[in-house]
Amino acid sequence: MLLIVGLDGASLELARNWAEAGRLPHLRRLFAEGAWGPLRSTMPPATFPGWATFMTGMNPGRHGIFDFTRRTTGDYGVQFINGSYRKAPTVWSRLSEAGKRVAVFGVPGTYPPEPLNGCMISGFDTPVTVKADASFVYPPELVAEIEADGGFPFADFQEFRVDRDWHHDALRRLLAGINTKVRVAERQLRKERWDCAMVLFGESDTVAHHFWRFCDPGSPRYDADGAREFGDAICTVYAALDRAIGDLVDAARPDGLLVCSDHGFGGAGASIVHLNRHLERTGLLRWRRGGLAARVARTGKSWALRWLPARLQARCFRLAGGRLASALESAHRFANIDWSGTQAFSEELNYFPSVWINLRGREPAGVVAPEDYDQVCDDVATAMKDLRDPESGAPIVARVWRRGELYQGPWVHLAPDLVLELALPQGYSYTCLPSRGVSCREAVRVASRAEMAGGKLNGMSGSHRDDGMFVLSGPVRPGEGAGANIADLMPTILALCDVPVPGGLDGRVLPCVDLPFRAGPLKSSACGDGDEQAYAPEEARLIERRLQALGYIA
Ligand SMILES: [Zn+2]
Repeated sequence: MLLIVGLDGASLELARNWAEAGRLPHLRRLFAEGAWGPLRSTMPPATFPGWATFMTGMNPGRHGIFDFTRRTTGDYGVQFINGSYRKAPTVWSRLSEAGKRVAVFGVPGTYPPEPLNGCMISGFDTPVTVKADASFVYPPELVAEIEADGGFPFADFQEFRVDRDWHHDALRRLLAGINTKVRVAERQLRKERWDCAMVLFGESDTVAHHFWRFCDPGSPRYDADGAREFGDAICTVYAALDRAIGDLVDAARPDGLLVCSDHGFGGAGASIVHLNRHLERTGLLRWRRGGLAARVARTGKSWALRWLPARLQARCFRLAGGRLASALESAHRFANIDWSGTQAFSEELNYFPSVWINLRGREPAGVVAPEDYDQVCDDVATAMKDLRDPESGAPIVARVWRRGELYQGPWVHLAPDLVLELALPQGYSYTCLPSRGVSCREAVRVASRAEMAGGKLNGMSGSHRDDGMFVLSGPVRPGEGAGANIADLMPTILALCDVPVPGGLDGRVLPCVDLPFRAGPLKSSACGDGDEQAYAPEEARLIERRLQALGYIA
């Protein structure tokens, strides 16, 4: 029996340090007995593509998940996507097909849950908050047991005003959420001897986003006052997760244990970058004059988020009808752009700095002729190399990637044309925030006091890093190993469950695995294209709120 515990955004450095200090006894033992090392995430290291690559053993170009939104075709819109948009089979379905019993709890990007030889509770992309329906569970009958154990929490909290009270409440809710998940998972794990079970915790990611400034005295955002109260917050959550690992091991009695994260973590610096503002400065983007409509959309959205109670918000957005949640997000991202004078534009996502070419034939008001595409990509790359830190003069963009350099497969066209890898001066990240048309002048500036504190629309004090972690005990050669990639875990899981590893994967069985594993028949690994299930407007609204609470969208 293989037990997998996913710790979203868990950092190898933090886990190693606190394990050695005796704060994480279960992980300490696991590091001592197992194989472990850094785990390279997808580029950029974000939750949805990361876990999708984990599940499929393929790069985003093959599974089609680059983010939890996707550009819609024919307009400058975005839509929320979910597990039904994934184009490659998951490790769970492969295990099920091989007759293995599988239990999966809380993995992002698994809504709607797939019918398995076992059970599944989908992740935070689940568009329900309450008992109202059982759509997030397979089989649906399980919902009554889950409710009896306290429900499965999906990180629903608002955080515009991130004062001390908010942090108190957030920490309490994170710790309570871990306990509830453990309670729900324990009952299911004890029910039968599963072949493979996975429980995912997002709390390690959330706490690091919001509490980094209290825990890292080296951070440019360090808050010494807050540190007196919250200086131990991240470690406290890691310790609670360590206890959770112990409890889950007791319940499942596994022969193998894999603890892994989808990406690592670090601190955010004090510099804010506005990519569209820089594109404007370099003549590649033009703002509309006035831009009243976009400002109204932005103000209306912020106002509704800030002041309306959650239930009224949902009602409001439902009454407004249509795809308003997505439409508002689209208006927010592309506010005030004059498409007729724009060759390149960015969605300005902090966790996914990237640029689209305003390509004729693809974009509704595209101005770049297909034969000029390469030249404009080069122009953008040159412009990005000129984006300098005002203090040090050093380049902010370390590398500009063409999407074809990062991704391979039939779905590469869903990725932005250019993906930017930003520098990490002194180890701290830049924060990309929306230019918002008229409200800001400089492309790079120092964060205001409010922005330093974080909270919605302000960026956060902790940010993602490329290397997550893995620790694996069982039939493995123990010790530290380099070079593991998140795509390697899917074939590794199959091998550990004695299921043949299919061809056509981007990952390989980790070399620390000490088993003769079989290669399976080469089988087509792409799914059909007709089964995407879009969210209803109210569901999209709920997902949007949750993504905001997690700091993904502004
Ligand atoms: Zn995160």
